[in-house]
Amino acid sequence: MAKAKSSKKTVHSIATLGSHCALQVLKGAKDEGFRTLLVCEKRRLDLYRRFPFIDEMLPVDRFDEVVGDRCRRYLEQANSIIVPHGTLIAQMKSQDIEKIATPIFGNKWILRWEADRNLKEKLMNESGLATPRAVASKDKVDKLCIVKLHGAAGGRGYFLAWNRETFEEGARKLIENKSIVSEDDLYIQEYISGVPVYLQYFYSPISGRLELMGIDRRYESDVDGIGRIPAKQQLGSGVEPSYNVVGNIPLVLRESLLDEVYKMGEKFVQAARKLVPPGMPGPFCLEGVYDREGKFTTFEFSARIVAGTNLYIDGSPYSGLIYDEPMSMGRRIAREVKMAVKTGRLEEVIT
Ligand code: AMP
Repeated sequence: MAKAKSSKKTVHSIATLGSHCALQVLKGAKDEGFRTLLVCEKRRLDLYRRFPFIDEMLPVDRFDEVVGDRCRRYLEQANSIIVPHGTLIAQMKSQDIEKIATPIFGNKWILRWEADRNLKEKLMNESGLATPRAVASKDKVDKLCIVKLHGAAGGRGYFLAWNRETFEEGARKLIENKSIVSEDDLYIQEYISGVPVYLQYFYSPISGRLELMGIDRRYESDVDGIGRIPAKQQLGSGVEPSYNVVGNIPLVLRESLLDEVYKMGEKFVQAARKLVPPGMPGPFCLEGVYDREGKFTTFEFSARIVAGTNLYIDGSPYSGLIYDEPMSMGRRIAREVKMAVKTGRLEEVIT
């Protein structure tokens, strides 16, 4: 694996793409004294002009222009680093993200491990996290399973199946509406019943400390709306739930669960360090389900800031335990950059 060569010593501005959690990232950067720069699709300029903490906007037709020379030169002149988020992963291929010459906050090489299901499984297994059983083929579907699209952003098109027939029926619908080409484009996983929970962490290579910054759950359409339809009408309506994220809801956990939460995060950081150097500097999220015994099964991770952190621009019930000031994830990132510059260790937090 090629390692980014950079001898950057300081940072004047923090940049990100205009979507996902851009407001939080740039507000946090401003609060920490950086200039802020938004790479913004032209159609969204009006939205982002409303926010005075954004110092500069670099208009683009498409986000993938961030790989190009024009953006690179602009960001270099601004002495900027990019904070990656979900839109970057959703709209660009891993190999293109890896080609971005502007320094990226965190480990850009691990973003490939988030996007690729096989690599993802490998890292979760190395972390020793409990994960849902992967089901090898439709003939092995013998209990409730969730069927996912490869690389799908945000649960769109996922469906439930409990035998071969229900799998084929769901797959047929996706082929008809051209979401997939064939059944091979689907990934089948054991369904874990319980409460979905998203654990938002920040690992600081500078302090060597893992911080739990917040917890949320997602509000997904329309699986979370289906309970509003009484059983009789549900049965008659043929509604097929999907898992498309619409928003996020704050959550606090029973305090007795927190010890395990920290241990899971630490195991993930260790595994990332071993498999994908330099590891997991910065924000990440473990995403899973607590079952009735209080056991957490991780079905997914995000190796960068997640949109659920937008809940906590003024801090969360957990960040408030560590910081005596409002500390969003965006601000925490900027604080890390500041500490890294001050101690001459910037290279440890960028790739
Ligand atoms: P993902 O794209 O893997 O984040 O999944 C989208 C949504 O599907 C999650 O937010 C959960 O609501 C649900 N989900 C994913 N995997 C599972 C699973 N193995 N068991 C139960 N629910 C799941």
